[in-house]
Amino acid sequence: MTPGTAVVVNLTEQSWTLHRSYGTYQVRGCAPDEPYALIPLSGTRAVMDLGDKRTLEVPISAREVAQDLCREINADAGEDSFFGVFVAQAEQPDVDELTEARQRLAVFYRSMVASADREWERSHSYLFIHDVQRRAARYLGLEKEWFYQARETSDCPGCGEKVRAGVAVCKTCGAILDRDKAAALGLAPLGVAPAAAHLPARLAGSGRPEQPAPRER
Ligand SMILES: [Zn+2]
Repeated sequence: MTPGTAVVVNLTEQSWTLHRSYGTYQVRGCAPDEPYALIPLSGTRAVMDLGDKRTLEVPISAREVAQDLCREINADAGEDSFFGVFVAQAEQPDVDELTEARQRLAVFYRSMVASADREWERSHSYLFIHDVQRRAARYLGLEKEWFYQARETSDCPGCGEKVRAGVAVCKTCGAILDRDKAAALGLAPLGVAPAAAHLPARLAGSGRPEQPAPRER
């Protein structure tokens, strides 16, 4: 390992900007195709104000910087909180370090999801679901009712019900929300009965009259 450097490992896509007394640091998140991000750090100096216009420069090693940043990030959500950043022993984290960190992250994230589940049970309000809890559910690959509101649903302009993003037709009121997609699926033209939204394209599409047939008397 190069003397005077330390490496912070970040397991998640979350990035942080930290303002410390000795400087401002960026801990970047990993890209979607990266298993983790590596953030190399150097040592620095902190200037201590001793009063009477006297200052003292205190050297801070790269490792101290790295540990301080990780402590700052990981301590953000209480006692056992761990956001998946740690200081590698060498320039690259080894398998044991990664395994241990991933386990700690999963344990913490599972506790976040459990608390969101309890909150949802009690309030059924998206207002009380935190970003960390949504990140936790996404990282763990869990589909949660409380997850979708912030990221992937909107209100149907036709009936006000929640609809998933990217849906062509509202399943509640039959409003066409994405005309091109609906047409491609054979769900357009207008006047589609709400139930038709559930039909596969091959059933809902061709051969159906554009206008509802006149009712027989
Ligand atoms: Zn609707």
